[in-house]
Formats: sequence, C-alpha cells, structure tokens
Amino acid sequence: MRLLLLGGTSEARELAALLVESGIDVTTSLAGRVARPRLPVGRVRIGGFGGVPGLKAALADYDLVVDATHPFALGMTANAAAACTDVPLLRLERPGWDPDPAWRYVDTHEEAATAAASLGTRPFLTVGRQELARFVPALDRHAALVRVVDVPDLALPPAWRLLTSRGPYALDGELGLLSGHRADVLVTKDSGGTYTWPKMAAARRLGLPVVVVRRPPGPRGVPTVHDVRAALTWVTDHRT
Ligand code: NAP
Repeated sequence: MRLLLLGGTSEARELAALLVESGIDVTTSLAGRVARPRLPVGRVRIGGFGGVPGLKAALADYDLVVDATHPFALGMTANAAAACTDVPLLRLERPGWDPDPAWRYVDTHEEAATAAASLGTRPFLTVGRQELARFVPALDRHAALVRVVDVPDLALPPAWRLLTSRGPYALDGELGLLSGHRADVLVTKDSGGTYTWPKMAAARRLGLPVVVVRRPPGPRGVPTVHDVRAALTWVTDHRT
C-alpha cells in the first residue's frame, strides 16, 4: 500500500514516523514554503502538484491519502477533497484551542488587524508570513513585533520589528518576549496544538488581550480525525 501524506505539520511528522514503523510505504508532501523544512522520516516530495488536475495525476501512484496539512492551509485541503474521487482520503486536523472568555475571536485577518488596532499600540503578530500584508493598512503606524519563520517578501512598515524563529516555544521565553516588547495585544490564528501554546499562556499571565482568527470550516464530506493515533488506525484498517 502506498500512502500520500500531505504534510507541513508536527502531526504529519509524527504520523509518518508511526507509518514507517508499521512498514507502510509513506511519501510526505511538503509545499516548499520554508527554506529549511523539518523533514519527516520516510520518502519526501517537495513542491505544489499544479492544482487539482496535477494532484489527480499524481494520485495514480498512491492507494490512500491523508491530508495532515495545517488547519489554515485551505487551498491544499480543498484540492485534496476535490482530487480524491477515486482514492480514499482522511483529514487529520488537530483540535483548536479551548476558547478563553478573554479572547476576541474574528473571522478574517483584516478583522484581526482592526481589532488589534483598537486594543493596543504595540501588537505581537504571530499570523504567518503570508498573511502580513493584510495587517498593514490597520497597523502600519503601530509598533508591531512580527514573528515569522522566514523573512517575508513584503516591505514591512518602518514601525514594525521583525523576528525570525521557529517553535516550539517555552513559556519563559514568551513571557520575556512579550514583556521586552511591552506588547499590549497578541494576534494569532487558532492553530491549536502545543508548539505555539506558550504565547497564549504568557498573554494570559500578563493579562494581555488576545485576538484569535477563527478556523475556516473543514472539508465537507471528508472523514476527519483529530489525533495521530486515530489516523494510524484509519490507515491500518485500509490495509486489511
Ligand atoms: P495552501 O494555501 O493551502 O496551499 C496553496 C498551494 O500550495 C496548494 O494549492 C499547493 O499547490 C501547495 N501546497 C500546500 N501544501 C502543500 C503540501 N503539503 N504539499 C504540496 N503542495 C502543497 O497552503 P499554505 O497555507 O501556504 O501552507 C503551505 C504548507 O505549510 C502546508 O503544507 C501547511 O501544512 C504548512 N503550514 C501552513 C500554515 C498556515 O498557517 N497556513 C502553518 C504551518 C504550516 P498546488 O496547487 O500547486 O498543488
């Protein structure tokens, strides 16, 4: 059985390790967005497929697909749902964070920018490089601290400070970062998981408001699990 694992997340790496251990022929696919990706065990392919037609053609080499991309990787998830008409597809999506009454949820990054502008003057933006342009109109005069994995192509407003780093993060470091910047509001997607949770714990401890971009709905009609072990069971059930 040959399995295509759409990756780019810690869950995908964990699942790849379990699949290799179980003797399953797994190929993890990465988009190629970050300069030095963390590579999973097993085979790896890097780069887009060329939309739904490209993915459909690539599926000739696979018997099963697990889409373990990030909850905000909307394009890839939609393409997988459209392309996997003849190949079983599972969505593995980590749960969102348990909501805190002190957080303000919004539906879009533009709304997050407006909300952050109304809540403070020194935001800490942790929304990913690709979304930053959507924050410029509302926050270009704010002293934003922006944390990303790779330097963005976008020319950032002069008032913004860029920090490149990659999780997982620890609470002490996040407390130091927020305090050192004198951040007065945190902006994040509802990524869920533990890697980036410490910034939420730090904001809570410092009493800072948090703006959370709500998750888009998952793919319709695609069986979905929320943890790696359940995904492994789905795969092994297809082996028998
Ligand atoms: P996206 O907007 O959903 O996808 C845009 C296009 O990138 C897709 O149509 C596909 O190109 C290509 N692509 C995306 N994921 C791919 C994969 N795993 N393998 C091969 N091609 C892929 O994706 P994104 O939000 O930019 O995320 C890119 C990658 O980063 C994903 O693998 C995701 O798991 C990871 N990631 C995303 C976020 C986030 O916040 N969005 C956070 C952490 C990690 P084609 O149409 O040419 O096939």
